[in-house]
Amino acid sequence: MRRVFRFKKRSLIEADIIIIGGGAAGFFTAINAAGKNNKLKIVLLERGKDVLTKVKVSGGGRCNVTHAEFVPKDLTLNYPRGEKELLGPFHSFMTGDTIEWFENRGVALKIEEDGRMFPVSNSSQTIIDLFNSETQRLGIDVLKSHSVKSFLKQDEKWLVTTSEGDFIAKKLVIATGSNPKIWKLLEDIGHTIIPPVPSLFTFNIKDSRILDLPGIATEAAVKVVDESGKVQLESEGPLLITHWGMSGPAILKLSAWGARILEPTNYHFSIKVNWLLGVSEENTLEELLDLKMSNPKQTILKYAQFELPKRLWQSLVQASGINETETWADITKKKLQNLANQICDSHFDVKGKSTFKEEFVTAGGVDLKEVNFKTFESKLQSGLYFAGEVLNIDAITGGFNFQNAWTGGYVVAQSVVK
Ligand SMILES: Cc1cc2nc3c(=O)[nH]c(=O)nc-3n(C[C@H](O)[C@H](O)[C@H](O)COP(=O)(O)OP(=O)(O)OC[C@H]3O[C@@H](n4cnc5c(N)ncnc54)[C@H](O)[C@@H]3O)c2cc1C
Repeated sequence: MRRVFRFKKRSLIEADIIIIGGGAAGFFTAINAAGKNNKLKIVLLERGKDVLTKVKVSGGGRCNVTHAEFVPKDLTLNYPRGEKELLGPFHSFMTGDTIEWFENRGVALKIEEDGRMFPVSNSSQTIIDLFNSETQRLGIDVLKSHSVKSFLKQDEKWLVTTSEGDFIAKKLVIATGSNPKIWKLLEDIGHTIIPPVPSLFTFNIKDSRILDLPGIATEAAVKVVDESGKVQLESEGPLLITHWGMSGPAILKLSAWGARILEPTNYHFSIKVNWLLGVSEENTLEELLDLKMSNPKQTILKYAQFELPKRLWQSLVQASGINETETWADITKKKLQNLANQICDSHFDVKGKSTFKEEFVTAGGVDLKEVNFKTFESKLQSGLYFAGEVLNIDAITGGFNFQNAWTGGYVVAQSVVK
């Protein structure tokens, strides 16, 4: 008996704009493009069963939408990769525009003390509900479970093959975040992909000086130094001691700016911490000598100086070789020098990294030299656009990564509707 093979005919759907990726950047592009011209057929392809999954978990479920920084140049300073390129786009769409965009659609944002901005509802679901209702209102086809397998240019149009059928359009927007398969497809059509490395992580440090101090936070200056003691990176700001080492803005900034330098060390390197932001070891020693003169009978360990947290002070005093009963009068100059060194130039060995609140951000992606930042269009392939984390752009924590997605999505939308 002969077996009959039946081949299912693949469907081919024609659209004006195809957007790959149902995350923050993909949705923002789709909604803004349709908002500009809702006669266009816009198809958004998402491989997952759900869309906006990162938005859902972002900001601990509250979605840190943006950051209250309203000067374009100052805003760019939060992007270790993308600083130069985002300056122009931020003049088209940045924080103030983001706030207005959401408010005009019924979602008010609030500013927290540290500048982070969240929906007043304190729920990322508010953002997801808004995006879903906007795509429905504007007639955008959001197709879930459509995993893109390939895209190639045919007769001035992009043919996109997915697990569920084929799509064709003149304009193709890639908003697939840090997806290695899509980066490989982009390499196949000539783009350079800067290899991905982790950004935004905390430092693992096992050291008796901080072992019993988790939860202590203080302003500090931190330097990454090489074997010869040369400073490679430095930052300052709040530093938080954790159960596994150090975190807080001062550390996270180093992890983002140092993403490429620290990866080859396998995250084994040295740092120096100045627990008195902006005060030199020399001046600290002078102040310690003054204290010796003015408080001879006082037990050193008992009273924290320089407004340092008491337990941190005690730990640094003990690390300087000063015992529990020693008074200022007892102390040798050598021990005071040790203490000044512990306060202003504490050396710690970092051995590994940990994820910051599950917020993993990747440095790497499409080489920015190959993108025209007036339109976010590829300089190598006409009709091909990028938005969001697919590009070699990333920021420190605080709402800046989403701002990149909103700005990119907005500018792409203006370009693709033309
Ligand atoms: C836990 C966590 C918390 C965070 N919190 C914040 C925060 O509060 N504020 C902030 O600014 N940033 C935050 N970030 C970073 C922020 O989420 C990202 O920068 C942002 O989501 C990037 O958006 P995107 O649209 O470029 O990519 P993504 O959100 O990654 O979206 C890409 C989409 O493309 C889809 N896709 C990939 N490949 C294919 C394919 N082949 N076919 C079809 N679809 C495909 C993916 O499934 C995904 O839905 C957080 C990140 C994490 C992980």
